[in-house]
Amino acid sequence: SQSNASNDYIEKESFQMGTVISQRIYGSNAEDCANKVIQRLNNLEENMSVNIKTSTVSRINSHSGQSQAFRINNDIYNILTAADKFSKLSNGAFDITIGPLVKEWGVFTDHPHVPSPSRISELLKLVNYKSIDFGQDQMTFRLPMKGQMIDFGAIAKGYAADEAVKICRREGIKSAYINLGGNVYVVGNKPDNTPWRIGIQNPRAVDGKYIGILSVSDKTIVTSGDYERFFMKDGIRYHHIIDPRTGCPSNSDLISSTIVTDSSINADALSTATFVMGLRKSEELLKKLDGVDAIFVTKDKKVYLTENLKKDFDFQDESGEFTY
Ligand code: ADP
Ligand code: MG
Ligand code: MG
Repeated sequence: SQSNASNDYIEKESFQMGTVISQRIYGSNAEDCANKVIQRLNNLEENMSVNIKTSTVSRINSHSGQSQAFRINNDIYNILTAADKFSKLSNGAFDITIGPLVKEWGVFTDHPHVPSPSRISELLKLVNYKSIDFGQDQMTFRLPMKGQMIDFGAIAKGYAADEAVKICRREGIKSAYINLGGNVYVVGNKPDNTPWRIGIQNPRAVDGKYIGILSVSDKTIVTSGDYERFFMKDGIRYHHIIDPRTGCPSNSDLISSTIVTDSSINADALSTATFVMGLRKSEELLKKLDGVDAIFVTKDKKVYLTENLKKDFDFQDESGEFTY
């Protein structure tokens, strides 16, 4: 039978795009496939990292306000186009030009701080996705205002996950689990032909404690939450997702937003956008989109699911704090 062959698998971890990438790929060519994914992610990182001075994104940012436009490759073009689409759909809750505020708050650094209101309003003048400037050929790009910075933090991992899955499909992989720092994609079913079971993190417990388990195949599962990266000051939690209207960590009624769909770039953008928009507006937005489902967790510890997902969700809350 084929069962032995299909139980061949490889598990690989790498550190790329500022995060841990895990791959579990089944099939006789699994190792080859995993290596191709790692190469592709390296190539994306070289172009997009803000930590690499020569990356296209770094050069775009460091030349903001100057007349020089930069040639962008297909990857950056694809990301910028998707970012623009989700900025419009979310009415600006998602905004790729949020960079100056992300940098100022410094949630990722070892010296995060609460900026003064005047500093925040000064930097907010630079945040406007409508201001960005594609060249006429659409393949060049510049930021018109000095100090502007684009930030791919809310969307690049999603794009990369889609690229990884494209490689898996091209290699004929029938079963795989790929996790790019929390951006999960499952290819096919598990090798035993049952759906993958993905834990949905309890936003108020240590890593690996869940509020439920989702059974899925051929889907991406992407979560944005206030618990992933934050600092505490005077009893207040300051996290890494900024509301472009206030310039401060978003303060909607949500503490986590998980999107389940086919496209990981869409899921990544939408998880961030809906987290900022809050429950009601997010539910309205998702009604307008086909094939996009969600799990929302509110501050008052209620769990909301879109209709489609309910049959695949197993509410399991050890903590007893959440209601569903
Ligand atoms: P994670 O970092 O856990 O993947 P997200 O996908 O929600 O979570 O991305 C958050 C990151 O996106 C932030 O660290 C920051 O770099 C950037 N960001 C913060 N606020 C916004 C926003 N309103 N729109 C777009 N990007 C944002
Ligand atoms: Mg995101
Ligand atoms: Mg993300």
